[in-house]
Amino acid sequence: MLAMATRAVSKPAIPSERSAAPGTAAPKPVVAIVGRPNVGKSSLFNRLIGQRRAIVEDVPGTTRDRLYGEVEWAGRTFTLIDTGGLELAPPDSLAASIAAQVRLAIEEADIILLATDSVEGLTAADEEIAQQLRAGTFAAGRSKPVIVVPGKADNAQRRDAAAEFYALGFEEVIPVSAYHGSNIGDLLDAIVQALPPLPPEAEVEVERIKVTIVGRPNVGKSSLLNRLLGEERVVVSEAPGTTRDAIDTVIEHDGRQFLLIDTAGIRRRGRIEPGIEKYSVLRALRAIERADVALLVVDATEFLAAQDLHIAGEIERAGKGIVLVVNKWDLVEKDSTTQQQYQQEIARQLNFMPWVPVVFISALTGQRVGRVLDEAVAVQAERQKRIPTAQLNEAIGRALEAHAPPARKGRPIKIYYATQVEVTPPTFLFFMNDPQLVHFSLERFLENTLRQAFGFRGTPIRLHFRARRPAAAPGAQRG
Ligand code: GDP
Repeated sequence: MLAMATRAVSKPAIPSERSAAPGTAAPKPVVAIVGRPNVGKSSLFNRLIGQRRAIVEDVPGTTRDRLYGEVEWAGRTFTLIDTGGLELAPPDSLAASIAAQVRLAIEEADIILLATDSVEGLTAADEEIAQQLRAGTFAAGRSKPVIVVPGKADNAQRRDAAAEFYALGFEEVIPVSAYHGSNIGDLLDAIVQALPPLPPEAEVEVERIKVTIVGRPNVGKSSLLNRLLGEERVVVSEAPGTTRDAIDTVIEHDGRQFLLIDTAGIRRRGRIEPGIEKYSVLRALRAIERADVALLVVDATEFLAAQDLHIAGEIERAGKGIVLVVNKWDLVEKDSTTQQQYQQEIARQLNFMPWVPVVFISALTGQRVGRVLDEAVAVQAERQKRIPTAQLNEAIGRALEAHAPPARKGRPIKIYYATQVEVTPPTFLFFMNDPQLVHFSLERFLENTLRQAFGFRGTPIRLHFRARRPAAAPGAQRG
């Protein structure tokens, strides 16, 4: 029983694609409730947790459920354990049951709540538990904060009487009523105060930028990959396990980690059969789906082919960041204006995505290869950018004043208010008189306005429109 509880609690969080670097994920602090039977531990538990969040785990052979749950308070999150579930463990003695609770709390918890009963007052059993907690934490080599929580303190008289629990020798005594909810906020404040400090920001989540290299055959994808693997520190290779031979590689550049997605797919060499070609396109699309930023590699000696534009469109549709990598720059005969001419030609061809950054490299010589990752970092930052609502509406208001959108179908277009509702990619919601009136040129105008004011270089942005009457608009009327 005890082992089971311990296992369940220390189970790592569900790994997400945006995972912390190994060893740096901050484990959630644990708060355990201990106390003799019938003092109201499970009512306290339910009150602290709110029923919604409780993870109920059936334990065979008992008449009640074990409960673990997460509590969020004042910006902190902790796991709460009701060790009281041990009470009904197979017919152990009460003493053994309490000893097990205390052991569990000392092993697992950062903070211990010692539940008592303000109606019955201080009992010998409470003193016994307090004694065990002191001895146990002493033996464990570090004292843990213990907050004494006299329950059933439904009125002022009982709250005053609860002062007797200071005799247990712990500094904090917070009488509560789980039934009325009184003092629960104070208790949560005290818990959050006593929680171990958060590790420094960087350690909470070392974000790995997920990058994929895409492009037509023979443009130099695997050459670029090999350059990156050769020049940057390779941290690990890992198989995500979906496709058996899809291998991701983690590299480090300038102190940042990058997850290169499906490096096996990029390495695939040789003549490509028509059937395989289709497979590799599908594979590239999946890689784009998993990535934050796609590096679209093109061949400098060929400019952009229809297929390049097609891939660029797919990246845009997927809402991912994009860096256009013009490779084989060593093969181009250059004078002082060549790069500029290329830039202009690319801008002309990619006219539906004028915001894409371009890097000219040679995977063969290694020229500017590091720049590719620098650009990926910059693009990811743009994808994650949040614009404060006031600034957003100021920029849009100014643009609309300068260029009022022409009426459509005889009706004026009125945009009242906008707000950013999402990042990755940045997504904006516009409240207006009638979304039916929105047309391509208005969208273009608004997108250009946002990009001029706030950048978003290398990332698609999304605009949504919703009808709202001006009276309901929270901001000043525009349009
Ligand atoms: P992939 O099919 O896109 O992975 O392309 P590869 O990396 O296999 O490269 C295709 C061919 O182009 C190979 O013969 C490479 O040696 C050559 N190549 C790749 N990058 C460069 C470059 O920057 N300059 C030159 N001159 N050749 C390159």
